[in-house]
Amino acid sequence: MKHLLASWGKVKGGLKGRSVNLFLDYDGTLTRIVRNPAEAKLSPKRQKLLREMTRLPGLKIAVISGRSLRNLRKLVPIPGLIYAGNHGLEFKLGRGTAIYPEVLSWKPLLRKLARKLERPLRPFKGIWVENKGVTLSIHYRCLLSRRIETARKILMAILRSRQDFSKLIVRKGKKVWEIQPPVPWDKGHMVIWLLAQAEELAVTPSFSIYIGDDRTDEDAFKVLKQKGLGIKVTRHPSKASVAAYYLRSPHEVFIFLKRVKDLRERKARNP
Ligand SMILES: [Mg+2]
Repeated sequence: MKHLLASWGKVKGGLKGRSVNLFLDYDGTLTRIVRNPAEAKLSPKRQKLLREMTRLPGLKIAVISGRSLRNLRKLVPIPGLIYAGNHGLEFKLGRGTAIYPEVLSWKPLLRKLARKLERPLRPFKGIWVENKGVTLSIHYRCLLSRRIETARKILMAILRSRQDFSKLIVRKGKKVWEIQPPVPWDKGHMVIWLLAQAEELAVTPSFSIYIGDDRTDEDAFKVLKQKGLGIKVTRHPSKASVAAYYLRSPHEVFIFLKRVKDLRERKARNP
């Protein structure tokens, strides 16, 4: 992976004369990872930058997160943004919201699983099960690291204990296990779908960028490998990733966003 800001000259060339689709993950990308996910808030200054960007012609911004759509919209309340929550299983585009239809029937089972996990996980101080409607997040950010493996084994045993539970998919994120219905849909599919919508409306050729920090973002990097730019937010650029570029922190992400904004503004002034 190359450092994006160090390669800015080249990247800038690719943006010229094209409209830009910007896909942004939230936690770890727009905000730092914090102990309590409820405290991962965007500063007013960063909100302002995003708000100004959504008003620029030739620039579409979507925030794609593992958080529930409702939670995401509360954290980034910016009109004009496209939102995708639960890794793309639910989204808001324009005035409408939609949900991946097949996941609805799994909601009661996820509720049941959340209840079933309560007692066995109670002795693990620092674990917290979040029911996000169509997925569950089991956060273990605050759990002692030597207890993680035992907790994981308990979780897997419970998932194996019933045939319907065992159909659910477990994905590992940063200090979180994500439990999802077995549907063929992820952040990558969401990006493909949104790009198809954008292409239908586009007047100029577009260039797409996806910025994310976690494993679930790799699906989206794959999609953009041929037709866009994947940017991983990481302190360890030597670790394997499908992304071509990296940024070190949300701070650097906003330096990049500001540059994209300046570029679009100049273009808006001298079209
Ligand atoms: Mg993230």
